[in-house]
Amino acid sequence: MQSSMQSHALLISSVLVHAARHHADGEIVSRSEEGALHRSTWAATERRARRLARVLAGLGVGAGDRVGTLAWNTHRHLEIYYAAPGMGAICHTINPRLAADDIAYIVNHAGDGVLFVDPGFAALVEAIAPAIAGTVRAVVFLADAARLPAVSLPAGMAVHAYEGLMAAADEDFAWPLLQETAASALCYTSGTTGRPKGVLYSHRSTVLHGYAINMADVMGLSARSRVLPVVPMFHVNAWGIPYAAAMAGAALVLPGRQLDGPSLHALMNEARVTMACGVPTVWLGLLAHLRASGGRLETVKTIMTGGSACPPLLIEAFGAEFGISMEQGWGMTEMSPVGTYNKPKPAHAALDAAGALRLGLKQGRILCGLDMKIVDGEGRELPWDGKAFGDLKVRGPWVTGAYYGDPAGSALDAEGWFATGDVATIDPDGFMEITDRSKDVIKSGGEWISSIVLENLAVSHPDVAEAAVVAAAHPKWDERPVLLVVPRPGRALDPASVLAVYEGKVARWWVPDAVVVLDELPHTATGKLQKNALRARFREHLIHK
Ligand code: ADP
Repeated sequence: MQSSMQSHALLISSVLVHAARHHADGEIVSRSEEGALHRSTWAATERRARRLARVLAGLGVGAGDRVGTLAWNTHRHLEIYYAAPGMGAICHTINPRLAADDIAYIVNHAGDGVLFVDPGFAALVEAIAPAIAGTVRAVVFLADAARLPAVSLPAGMAVHAYEGLMAAADEDFAWPLLQETAASALCYTSGTTGRPKGVLYSHRSTVLHGYAINMADVMGLSARSRVLPVVPMFHVNAWGIPYAAAMAGAALVLPGRQLDGPSLHALMNEARVTMACGVPTVWLGLLAHLRASGGRLETVKTIMTGGSACPPLLIEAFGAEFGISMEQGWGMTEMSPVGTYNKPKPAHAALDAAGALRLGLKQGRILCGLDMKIVDGEGRELPWDGKAFGDLKVRGPWVTGAYYGDPAGSALDAEGWFATGDVATIDPDGFMEITDRSKDVIKSGGEWISSIVLENLAVSHPDVAEAAVVAAAHPKWDERPVLLVVPRPGRALDPASVLAVYEGKVARWWVPDAVVVLDELPHTATGKLQKNALRARFREHLIHK
């Protein structure tokens, strides 16, 4: 029997209209390419998004067309976030940190007819222009005419200034009633092997994900929040924050391209930020700056970290030295991205500091609406005892079923589960903890060793700036861990003192067989350690010794 309830579509435009109507003065603070702080509101953003929808139509963009962006977090990027899906097109955010060749591949694969580009990426666009000339017919620089960069692009590729197009358009546009399952945004995973693969989100998946991350035990934004996504808008929709902020009516603070410690510190205080979200590397940079300068964060209550494991130092230092609660989330491009979030349950109130830290290092509990399990090599489900490691699988309405261009359901197993590629434990309270990417796990004598646990301990050494643990081939044990460390500037590292951090903390057989001191470690475009390159380089390290 059908219900008697209305079946209103869950649409991204409705989210913006809600924010404009009920939080008209809610602020959008943005550091633009020009450098100055730009202050706007949700009401003005909705009006500008309607104007932009007219601009898009004028550029020949129609329903289902992909609109590419190469841009930092700014108010103009936010306008595209809403205007493109709002009018029925698809906002395709491109990671400008990828190799130029990968960017050209992505633009062509997605079929982006129009690109919206920060002037700072003009040289990048010029470099890839010949490779994308068959796909892109217009490049719109996110600036006014006075700041239009001088670029030479192939004939047939028009160049526009964003503000010029906006000034020439009007706001006479009504958001169309779309199907909620229509595609709204496209994001490519920056795979460490092979070509990037696209994930195509829908209005429905985006709105449901927004509701879910706004629950009190997740990011829990409110009309009183002032949220700073340091995570770029080209990285899985800035973790959904541009949408969730509008749903809650929260103020949104957009940092532009200045993501270093001093810039973030100044912005957080000037824009009265209450919550900031980003990857651990960013928080390590901010912490180093605060410690060196003696600076304080006047309004920040919560820092959320995700994207890679949170070093214990961050939780300890921000808590003890700044009174800021460090919260961890886990997810991936294929999950919109948030899958789990770590907030304690009532029973955890009694934990001592060490116990609370131990809990905080876990990736957290699954969001309502999603389902997770861990399985062994044969696909048998493993117990939630906090000890058994297995491949982590997920399913739910904001998890992808296939990669862009592939047949529906092709990324799933027979029961509809998506294999995350992460290896994890789940404890009896439902807290999931990642122990590795499945390809990074070290198998010594048939037993698994967690590279993440060993890396976290290594960076607790005062002279270690960064650490990676990789599997090296071993004649007896098959694989053994090798620890690669980068010293802090001006410090020398003694391998024996580094290995001492493991004493009493892990089983003896987990302790790495060798320590190699390096000047730097390679990173992917999203700032994660490039383990495959390191594995290849150190594969034979224990054989030739
Ligand atoms: P994200 O935006 O979350 O970085 P990606 O798709 O680029 O999305 O990468 C997803 C992968 O990042 C996950 O499968 C996992 O291996 C890793 N990851 C994300 N969050 C965490 C976390 N909190 N702790 C450990 N690893 C994480």
